[in-house]
Amino acid sequence: MYMGAGDGSQLMRNSNFRSESTQKTTNNVRTVLHCDANSFFASCETVLHPEYALVPMAVCGSVEDRHGIVLAKNELAKKYNIKTGETVWQAKQKCPSLLTVQPTYGLYGEMSKKMNEIFYQYTDLVEPFGVDESWLDVSGSKKLFGSGKNIADSIRARIKKELGITVSVGVSFNKIFAKLGSDLKKPDATSVIPPERFASIVWPLPVGALLFVGPSCAAKLGRVGIKTVGDLACCDKDFISQYMGKNGIMLRDFALGRDFAEVTPAGYEPEPKSVSNGMTFRFNLISKEDISFAVTYLSMSVAERLRKHGLCCNTVAVSIRNPEQITVSRRAPLNSPTCLFEDISNAALKLIWANVRSGDEIYAVTVHAEKLSSPKQNAFQQIMFPSDNELKYQKRLSLETAVDSIRERYGKGAIGIASAVNNRLI
Ligand SMILES: [Mg+2]
Repeated sequence: MYMGAGDGSQLMRNSNFRSESTQKTTNNVRTVLHCDANSFFASCETVLHPEYALVPMAVCGSVEDRHGIVLAKNELAKKYNIKTGETVWQAKQKCPSLLTVQPTYGLYGEMSKKMNEIFYQYTDLVEPFGVDESWLDVSGSKKLFGSGKNIADSIRARIKKELGITVSVGVSFNKIFAKLGSDLKKPDATSVIPPERFASIVWPLPVGALLFVGPSCAAKLGRVGIKTVGDLACCDKDFISQYMGKNGIMLRDFALGRDFAEVTPAGYEPEPKSVSNGMTFRFNLISKEDISFAVTYLSMSVAERLRKHGLCCNTVAVSIRNPEQITVSRRAPLNSPTCLFEDISNAALKLIWANVRSGDEIYAVTVHAEKLSSPKQNAFQQIMFPSDNELKYQKRLSLETAVDSIRERYGKGAIGIASAVNNRLI
């Protein structure tokens, strides 16, 4: 449920949206669906309480509190012009008989899961966007299930029949237009934006119809006469670049249908560039013992995350903050790449002993693993002609990997370093 942040630029930076293709040719026209459940929270509540469908109803946060806000409303409440995000008090002014209900814990996640299970029957490329929306890349599913529109209609019918809620689906050749399409007709509708006709459908719409153009961005564009998606598509590239920087160029590209972001399956995590873990402990660290404990504790989770991504680090860094909030950062290269906590904490402690005088207090400390590489690079040599060091490394690696699987299976508290038990620092 994208509420339209004031300015979508932060969201855009954090997402994998891009207007440049990494492929040389873009002959392959994709078929992307965006499925958006209509009045999701209100629809879920109505599945449990069918009588809610007969009256204007809204799901509201903290109803007893007059400052609670409307999270979702049904079709009858919409007729009273009740809006998501307004206060219960405002909503009741518009419709005194409005039935307000509290959200049911767990219900929406459960319904969301069931909805996504249906999506997975059409493609494995499903990218959830919030609890009630998902993108689907069905380019490879059309031989089996028919055109994008056929798939959209079939998904809508199944969700309605099996879950009792309705969805609106946008069908297009990229994620941005698919998302826009799902907003065109509501409830329970399919809207197709084909590549050969997108301009006539999309360009007359207000510029705010584009994902990432929030109210403040739309206002900023409006001040230079860019009111519609078409205005944005046709504006001068240098002008928009000067006016809004890279984001402006990207939004203009989106308006032109140049969005090449892939539908990224859930659970996919981009490979990190560095892995860090920092903490402010309950007491300032002074003794060697406490500092050693803190660094070992932090290094364990850094190493665990490196192994999860199948990576090793070639450099270890520490950031040390003193009680005056002055931070010193130091880094050192390692002799050989590692993903073992012992190697990381030894290197980090060496940096600390070289930079902190005995008796100095440490307010907070962060351990960073940097210059990450894949351990496979010289795997052949390591396996065929292992050195003594390599044998030791492999032994410790299997031990730490065993600890990872215990922690994964039985929880983080199942196994750890002995000194962490009842430690006063954490
Ligand atoms: Mg929705």
